[in-house]
Amino acid sequence: MSSIDLHCHSYISDGALSPRDLILLAHQQEASMIALTDHDQIDGLNEARKTASELGITFINGVEISVTWRHKTIHIVGLNFTPSENMRQVLAENRSGRLQRLAQMAERLEKRGKITGVYEGALALVNHPDSVSRTHVAQYLVACGAVRNTNHAFKKWLGDGKPACVPHQWIGLNDAVQLIKNHNGIAVLAHPARYRLSATINRLLIEEFIAAGGEAVEVGSSTHNLSEQLRWAELAHQYQLLSSVGSDFHGNGEFGRHLGKTPDLPSICTPVWIVFK
Ligand code: AMP
Ligand code: MN
Ligand code: MN
Ligand code: MN
Repeated sequence: MSSIDLHCHSYISDGALSPRDLILLAHQQEASMIALTDHDQIDGLNEARKTASELGITFINGVEISVTWRHKTIHIVGLNFTPSENMRQVLAENRSGRLQRLAQMAERLEKRGKITGVYEGALALVNHPDSVSRTHVAQYLVACGAVRNTNHAFKKWLGDGKPACVPHQWIGLNDAVQLIKNHNGIAVLAHPARYRLSATINRLLIEEFIAAGGEAVEVGSSTHNLSEQLRWAELAHQYQLLSSVGSDFHGNGEFGRHLGKTPDLPSICTPVWIVFK
C-alpha cells in the first residue's frame, strides 16, 4: 500500500466531508501526500492546503475535469497546477447546465418511476448547487426509499444509458488538457479501466490524450482490480506516460476506497510525483 493519494473528493463537489475534515482523516490514515480533486471545482484547495500544512502532509493542487470525448464522458485529473481566475471561469462554465440536467433527470424519474421531489431533494444534499451530480440524485433515491443503496440507484436509473441518465455535453479533451498545461499542471487520464472501451478506441483515446499534451495515467486507482492495474502499467510503460495513484474517495461508504491508502505501483511505472516541484 502507498500513502500517496492523488484523487479524492470533498463536499465542494460530490464528497461527504469538508476539505478540512478530509485532510484530518487523511492524516489519521497516515497519508504522506494528498491531492484534492473535486469535480470541475477548485474552491476547496485553500482550506485543504492550510490543513495539510498544519499537519505536515504534502498537499498537491488537484481537480477532476469532466470531458466529452466521442459522445462518452471521460475524466481528466489535473495535478500540481497554479490556479487562476481564468481557470475558475472555465470550470464554472463546465459546471453550468448541471441544474438544468438535474431538472431533466427529475422529470424522467417522476414519469418513469413515479418518484417525486428529486429536484429539491438532490439540491438539499449538495453544498454548491452548480456542482449537483448523479451522486446526489442517487443519495436522494436511497433516502426516499426508491432504491436499496446508491449502487442500485446507478444500476437501475442513473448509470450510463439507464432511464434517468441524461447525457451531458462537457468540455473537449484538448481544451481540458490545455487548461491544465496552461496552468503548469500535469494532466492525468483518470481511472481508465472504468470506461469500458474496445482495444482500438482505447488506443485512440490514449493517443489523442498524448497529442493534446497529457502526460500521466492513473494506474493505481482503487477502482481498478489487479489485472486492470497491470494492464495499465504496461500501457503507461509502452506510451511513456507517468503513473498516478488515487483512492477516488468520496466518503460516501464506497466499497474498497480508503483515503490515503492506494495500491503500490508496479515497478515498470514512473511515478507522476517525481516531477512535482
Ligand atoms: P455526474 O458528474 O453528475 O455525471 O456524476 C458522476 C459521479 O457519479 C461520479 O463522479 C461518481 O462519483 C458517481 N458514480 C458514477 N457511477 C457510479 C456508480 N456506479 N456507483 C456509485 N457512484 C457512481
Ligand atoms: Mn464523484
Ligand atoms: Mn471520475
Ligand atoms: Mn473522482
